[in-house]
Amino acid sequence: MTEARYLDDATCLTFEATVEAVRGTDRVVLDQTYFYPAGGGQPNDTGSLSTADAEWAVTDVVKRDQIEHVVDDEAPEPGTTVTGRIDADRRRAHMRYHTAQHLLSAVLLTEFDAETTGNQLYADHAHLDCAYDRFDDDDLQTIESRLNELVASDQSVRWYTLDRDEAEATLDPERTRLHLLPDSIREVRIVEIGDEDDPFDRTACAGTHVASTGEIGTVVLTGRTTQGSSHERIDFVLE
Ligand SMILES: [Zn+2]
Repeated sequence: MTEARYLDDATCLTFEATVEAVRGTDRVVLDQTYFYPAGGGQPNDTGSLSTADAEWAVTDVVKRDQIEHVVDDEAPEPGTTVTGRIDADRRRAHMRYHTAQHLLSAVLLTEFDAETTGNQLYADHAHLDCAYDRFDDDDLQTIESRLNELVASDQSVRWYTLDRDEAEATLDPERTRLHLLPDSIREVRIVEIGDEDDPFDRTACAGTHVASTGEIGTVVLTGRTTQGSSHERIDFVLE
């Protein structure tokens, strides 16, 4: 079973691993990986796998029963030791956007009682859907100001795993959204932002995040669109 190391350390972008299996001709399963597979609104990492005399571009990373690294040529043999290198700029952008999305979800819930229903981020823009009738220009101004206050105050971002029953018993279900996870998942990863004793956000999330909100940079809301009668989509970019 591939050890999903990106859950523990989002800053490691070069690592050694052993090829455990090859699926088809171009899908590599490793004993451990720091490559993020697409999921939770965050795109997959890209990068390369290499040995002393060969290199493969990693063009896609998908999570099935195992994490599969799709490479651009015939895959290295099982047993081969490879060096994985993750495209740093792309990953770093995803970490900033993903952490910004958590702030936005928290602000929407606190200020507007609007629950997040979906989100998709990219390396250069993102959008988030929430349950709300209609934001006006003043609302968008308020949201943007609040987000940038949270960035300016440079709050710490932490993550840890928790037994699901304990998480369900002790954490706010509206924020953690644990009910969205399949029953088979017994351990949840919690991402927490803010003061250790009184964090302003706790969410169940398997994505990669920056270590403090100051790393996000200035958030600019670029627009809103309606997604039906009671849903709004907010578009944003980071500068
Ligand atoms: Zn997250």
